[in-house]
Amino acid sequence: MKKIYIALATIFVFPCISYALENSEVKTFLKSTFSDNAKHVQEISHENFKSFAEQQSPRATIVSCSDSRVQTKAFHQSPINDLFYIRNIGNQIKTAEGSVEYGIDHLHTPLLLIIGHSNCGAIAAALSNYSAETKAIRTELDHLHLSPKIDTNQGVIENVNNQVAYALEKFKDKIAKNELVVVGAIYDFRDDFKREHGRLILINLNGEKDPAKIKQNEYVKGIEDIAIGVK
Ligand SMILES: [Zn+2]
Repeated sequence: MKKIYIALATIFVFPCISYALENSEVKTFLKSTFSDNAKHVQEISHENFKSFAEQQSPRATIVSCSDSRVQTKAFHQSPINDLFYIRNIGNQIKTAEGSVEYGIDHLHTPLLLIIGHSNCGAIAAALSNYSAETKAIRTELDHLHLSPKIDTNQGVIENVNNQVAYALEKFKDKIAKNELVVVGAIYDFRDDFKREHGRLILINLNGEKDPAKIKQNEYVKGIEDIAIGVK
C-alpha cells in the first residue's frame, strides 16, 4: 500500500511541485536578473571597469528608504562609482551610522543626500502602534522620533529634516570647513506634494528649509531642473 502512495505521489505531486518551481516568481526574477547582468557585462567596456577596479570615488553618500519604489534610476542614470548608497527603512542615519561615516570620513564624499519618499510605510508604522513588530524592526522604528498626531507625509518631511539635523551636528566640523553639504529630499512617486509624479524635491539644504532662501544658495542657484520645497 505504501508503495502505491509513493508511486501516486511521484506521478501527481512531484510534477506539480516541479511545475510550480519552474514557473515561480523567484525563477522568473532570477532569469531576468542574470539576463540584465549579461547586458551589463556587454555594455560596459573593460577599460571602464578598470577605471574603478582599485578604488571607488563616489561624489555622494546617500541614505534612502529601502522602499522598492525608490530607485536610483529616478535621479541618476549612471550611479556606478558615483553613489555610496545606504538604504534602510525610514532613511535613517542612526541604524547605519558606520556606513554613513565610511562614506563621508573615508571616501570623502562632499555631499550627504538623505532621501525620504511619499507614503513611506516605515513612517506610517512609526506614527502608529508598532509594539507587535519584532524587536529588530521596533529598534529601527524607535530611532524615528516623530511628532504625535501628524499624517504620514508630514512625518516623511519631519523625518528628513530630523535626519539632516542629526547629520549637521554629527559632521559639524566638515560642514564648517565646507567639506560637506547635507541635503534632504523627498522622492514623490504619488504626486502627493504637487510637483508631478516621480519628482525628487529638495526640502532642506544644510538645515535651511525655506525654499526662497534655498533657491539663493550657491550650491543650487541656476540649476534649471531643480524642484525646491513642497506645496
Ligand atoms: Zn519608506
